[in-house]
Amino acid sequence: MKILDFVQSKDFFTVNGLKCLRGDYFHNQCNLCIDICPNNSLTIFKNKIYLEDSCINCGVCIGGCPTESLMIETFDENDYILKFEKDTISCKDDAICVACFDQNHYANLMLKQDKDISINISNCDNCELNKEDIVKNSIINRVNETNSLLEKLDIKNKLILKTDSNTNDTSRRGIFTKILNATKQIKDDSNLTKKIEEKLDKKIPTKKLLFKNRLKEFIQDDTIVSFENSFIINKTIDYDKCTNCKECVQFCPTEALTKNSVEDTIYFQIGKCVNCNICNDICKENAINNSFEDISLLDFAFDRAKELVKFELKLCKRCKCAYPSKDNRDICHICDRFEGDEFANLFVMQKDL
Ligand code: SF4
Ligand code: SF4
Ligand code: SF4
Repeated sequence: MKILDFVQSKDFFTVNGLKCLRGDYFHNQCNLCIDICPNNSLTIFKNKIYLEDSCINCGVCIGGCPTESLMIETFDENDYILKFEKDTISCKDDAICVACFDQNHYANLMLKQDKDISINISNCDNCELNKEDIVKNSIINRVNETNSLLEKLDIKNKLILKTDSNTNDTSRRGIFTKILNATKQIKDDSNLTKKIEEKLDKKIPTKKLLFKNRLKEFIQDDTIVSFENSFIINKTIDYDKCTNCKECVQFCPTEALTKNSVEDTIYFQIGKCVNCNICNDICKENAINNSFEDISLLDFAFDRAKELVKFELKLCKRCKCAYPSKDNRDICHICDRFEGDEFANLFVMQKDL
């Protein structure tokens, strides 16, 4: 019988259900890890991620998880990036599958480099993890998005996709053995990320925090960029559609959306957003949208908030509650619904009837 533990493990691989977006909002449909797993070892059970025994600890799914819910015990991808001093990231070298890194790792790495870094995907075509090119294409997409950001920042160094293999590795061992050897090599007692993580706000993934911190050292003035990507996304709220119900604020897992004390304004901190789309999915009015325009990197790096929507609060003549007013009506939209039916006098005092 299947049992859904909060933390599920198979050998060195762990799924932390407490961090997974599916635990934050029941209707969340995040499938990123399921879609990329080459072994179909992640499935859905009771609308949560379930780890099957068939998992081979390849680490392919790790990089795409927006909340760092997935980890290989013996390989810390953040630590690997922090200590990286070579010219190439390659699964033939000391990394596990290159798909364990995402744009946050790459951008963090490139902001401290004064040289190009190669990402070796020359092994992907013959790799049994790369079914239907899903793994290879996701690596290419993350590299391209990182390069787009570097270009916007006028950084000349780039990530180079290395497609030609000059290593003649004919002694291809089983994936499992290869990964175990690679991870053993990486494991050491001076895990920088673990030390940093002890002091961090765990709602925001460490890879994003490290990237933002690197960006703080780099940017001086506000740099506004516009580019299609999946890791720094702006939000907008359509004033005409929004009812100020604040469900988006309530369910945002990272508190990227907040409200002020009088609840007439919704703010957004782009640096805290993990692009889970829960806010978009939950909004009944379709009022909240993603935008690739006018992304302030200063706002992103320093967690500065911007106002998404602001209402004028009025006192409803009928229920006497404050409500967000958009027109000249003097009753709130809830009382408005009861107009003309049997509840019309619900809040009228007996003496006034
Ligand atoms: S990618 Fe991460 S957040 Fe999304 S379902 Fe998988 S474990 Fe959960
Ligand atoms: S954006 Fe949507 S969910 Fe958020 S307060 Fe407005 S109507 Fe509600
Ligand atoms: S603002 Fe929306 S997309 Fe960003 S973390 Fe919050 S709920 Fe997710």
